[in-house]
Amino acid sequence: MKIITCNVPDSLYNALLERMETDKASCDHVVSMALSQCLGHPIHTLFQVSTSAALVEGLYQGAVRVSRVLCHGNFGLGTFIDLDGEMVVLEGVCYRVASNSVVTTVEGDRLIPYAVVTCFSAEFGKRSQQLNSFSELIAVCDALHSSENVFYAFRVEGTFSFVKTRVMKAVPQGTGLKSASSGQKEFTFEDQEGTLIGLWSPGFAGSFSVPGYHFHFLSADRKRGGHVLECRAVDVTIGGCAMHEMHVSLPETAEFLKANLSHDPSDDLISAERNHES
Ligand SMILES: [Zn+2]
Repeated sequence: MKIITCNVPDSLYNALLERMETDKASCDHVVSMALSQCLGHPIHTLFQVSTSAALVEGLYQGAVRVSRVLCHGNFGLGTFIDLDGEMVVLEGVCYRVASNSVVTTVEGDRLIPYAVVTCFSAEFGKRSQQLNSFSELIAVCDALHSSENVFYAFRVEGTFSFVKTRVMKAVPQGTGLKSASSGQKEFTFEDQEGTLIGLWSPGFAGSFSVPGYHFHFLSADRKRGGHVLECRAVDVTIGGCAMHEMHVSLPETAEFLKANLSHDPSDDLISAERNHES
């Protein structure tokens, strides 16, 4: 990190203060984002609301507004209060896939309990004629990422001959993630053009993140989506970027502040997030 000192017009300075206030962001963040845009030099920072351990323990209260999440990234995934649906953030728009499979855009002032986003731009990529399974996709992504110790985002575009997704349905406060996942709805779609929004987290990040791969799907017509359990696709373009910095916004809710989060969430996460048939 470097410190810069520079002179700016009063009007710009006031606009900077205003932006810091509206986005509840630091001067460092706003200036870095502005320089990044102006200089065409993307910074891939992972911004996360809450932790996977908190989700496993059933902490799904609203913590941060969608507008703030979108200040920190245009690409990512997450969930909603009471696990009521799956979140997809793509090209700066936040979508909610509901448990009846309806996809809607989400208003900026809605509070959400968990999300992970970044400003995506591909640093590396690959085209593939055909992907025959989710595990084949994982193998291709594995070959693309060069370290086991940083975070990665993957954007996968293609024509999906088959996608199986799950969508969480609202649960009472305090229901652990593992039992919440037993009430999930599953959907299958065929012949959909669309995008997979993926994140890969290192094993050491298990208390914060979902270790390994985590993909959500959104169709090109923005009418179908969910947490991906299985897929097959043709004419696939995979782009990815590494994320070396992480910014975690911890909830200030009374429930979070008082919760015991010392339990290792890994086993419950694996059980809740993977395809139970594979
Ligand atoms: Zn998910």
